[in-house]
Amino acid sequence: MNKPVDVKDLQAPLGDLSMYINGEWVESESGKRNDIFSPGSGQKIGTVPTGTREDARRAIAAAATKEDELRFMAPAERAAMCKRIAEALDRNKDELARAIALDQGKPYHSEGIWEAGVAPHFFREAAEEIVRLYGETIPSGDRNKRYITFWQSRGPYAVITPWNFPYNMPAEHVAANLAAGNPVVWVPAPSTSGCAVTFAKALEEADLPKGAFNMVIGEGPVVGDEIVANPGTRGVGFTGSPATGQKIAERGAGKPMLLELGGNGPFIVLADANLDAAAEGIAFSAYLNAGQACSATERVLVDARIKDELLEKVLAITSKIVLGDPFDPKTTMGPLNNEQVAAKMDRHIADAIEKGARVLAGGGRKKGMPTGLYYEPTILDGVTADMQVNREESFGPIVPVLTFNTHEEALALANDNDSGLICSVYTKNLKSAYWFGERIRCGIVNINETSDYWETPVPYGGIAGKKSGIGRLGGTHTLRSVMDQRAILFDFEKGGF
Ligand code: NAD
Repeated sequence: MNKPVDVKDLQAPLGDLSMYINGEWVESESGKRNDIFSPGSGQKIGTVPTGTREDARRAIAAAATKEDELRFMAPAERAAMCKRIAEALDRNKDELARAIALDQGKPYHSEGIWEAGVAPHFFREAAEEIVRLYGETIPSGDRNKRYITFWQSRGPYAVITPWNFPYNMPAEHVAANLAAGNPVVWVPAPSTSGCAVTFAKALEEADLPKGAFNMVIGEGPVVGDEIVANPGTRGVGFTGSPATGQKIAERGAGKPMLLELGGNGPFIVLADANLDAAAEGIAFSAYLNAGQACSATERVLVDARIKDELLEKVLAITSKIVLGDPFDPKTTMGPLNNEQVAAKMDRHIADAIEKGARVLAGGGRKKGMPTGLYYEPTILDGVTADMQVNREESFGPIVPVLTFNTHEEALALANDNDSGLICSVYTKNLKSAYWFGERIRCGIVNINETSDYWETPVPYGGIAGKKSGIGRLGGTHTLRSVMDQRAILFDFEKGGF
């Protein structure tokens, strides 16, 4: 049953929180704790244990005790477990939304409630897909033999997630692993530990076998590294930056991995595009979650002939963004989550200005706010290919604008980049749409839709040759990424069936 929202209590601290290992809320063996702070107010909102490698090993050992039990449950039983989790997340929606606004910085009304409401979907979808993950019977070349294939769990899984969507990112991995029968050891991002504990508390209500789901709080290079490198985990699900993804690929070499890494747009607008729709799409994905999304606009490539008209429209939408307190109902964009992201925005803007870009809107941190994390929605004109803001993911509320004169030039700008995750092309010409759709080196190309748009049955992930990741996430694709496809051979002659 839903608890009513008491507006007075929305900003109440989260308190002294614990890790979740083997079905118990526990302290770190280090005995140490860290304070956690709200990016919106700068106030201390709680404390969390400082996890160690030994804590991570305890969690792996707990997961190992449930390997057989989860593996040999009927898929329908695991599906029921996932449905119970979805119901528990539904029941805790208000608290999840409150914690995300407090701990991550998303506007409570427009985005916090939304993310809290989406998280259960991943568990329901995994529940629906696992009972339909069929095997095959393969004709053998020998008349006395038959093969069957089937999907089987791998065993304890390491899951490591970022802070930008602190419920949906773990939900994508945890749902698939539990449905598949892999006990989970999860390391959430330290800067959203409060969200992580709120999420884990909801999962606790789903009455899972003790040890099936474990959460270790601590620094990535310590507890994250341990769960990747430790032979006790059989596979790794990671969402985060390309730099960390590279380290994980090395430390966990030989384990199956699903790596969902960074993106860098682009958002391409051709001369014949519907400019109102394009401007809406650009602003939506540049400013949603203050631009802290792998699918964010990141860089706009626009035909030089229509640039001014398009920018006028993007500027008009940008001027209506209300940057402010995540709990204020009028707020449409909250603070950035942490200083590293704000500092990267500072660097990218300074580098662009130095190399000749012009600031049309924003350009820095908003003054007079409780913390330095409130970053103004920023539009940069005259961006060139060599600028950091074009080359790297900025991960903030920014619209860097580059121009092109031919489609070939646009394609070259799009592909001359380390990232290749998801992008947009706006045009009224079907042939142009196909031409770009087949040639841009990104996992997904959205035509006349913002780059933040994704439906979960669609395979999501980076394209080969770039640094946006390995493997595909979403619906049955995630299940297939975390399970072994196995075969059994039967001989009908020799064994005496
Ligand atoms: P990050 O790589 O800094 O951290 C991600 C997680 O990895 C955190 O939990 C962190 O504690 C952990 N970690 C850090 N060092 C580690 C190590 N040496 N070993 C093991 N774990 C370690 O990324 P971030 O700043 O939290 O997230 C932002 C990045 O995530 C962006 O690049 C964004 O594009 C990407 N992202 C990708 C997707 C996708 O689906 N492709 C979705 C969301 C975010």
